[in-house]
Amino acid sequence: MALNDKSLAARGLQSERVQWVGKGPGVFEREVESLETEVGLTTLAKAIAWAQTKSMWPDTFGLACCAIEMMSIVSSRYDIARFGMEAFRSSPRQADLLIVSGRVSHKMAAPLRQIYDQMLEPKWVIAMGACASSGGMFNNYAILQGVDRVVPVDIHVPGCPPRPEALMEGIVRLHEKVNAGVPPAYEIRGVAE
Ligand code: SF4
Repeated sequence: MALNDKSLAARGLQSERVQWVGKGPGVFEREVESLETEVGLTTLAKAIAWAQTKSMWPDTFGLACCAIEMMSIVSSRYDIARFGMEAFRSSPRQADLLIVSGRVSHKMAAPLRQIYDQMLEPKWVIAMGACASSGGMFNNYAILQGVDRVVPVDIHVPGCPPRPEALMEGIVRLHEKVNAGVPPAYEIRGVAE
């Protein structure tokens, strides 16, 4: 419960002014009541979530045309460095976020899953574009009809291709989920065999 959720009198402060109904709190009491915002008190869970969203390094995993849009988010125009995310990692062991950008062929499903498995927890997945989310226009035997068949997806970004702004929107929504305490998708839905 936040500090401000309860009045000082209800919390047991016995000062004369607080007990005096109708008088209202003095300067000291008002300052104490706004302590949480003044001093910046927080919880460990909130601090961890803040750190995770400010250093969420994506894995380099471009598969098709959507990848061109994904690459542009590190440019000065979109500046993903604002979120501490400009460091795309080539090793899954140094990455927290898998942005699946482009259609996933059945041949690529196994390597994709292997990379996901090699990422350390906590880890998140964004399915970028219609192809990664549902196979898109490629309703055929060669393309996986949705990457959520092999890895649990946290955020789906619609579009063909989604503009970099749409991907940024997906990233911001993911940050909101983490800050709100929503667990990663693998904890909610599990990981397919
Ligand atoms: S969603 Fe469109 S842009 Fe993205 S990989 Fe599929 S066809 Fe290409």
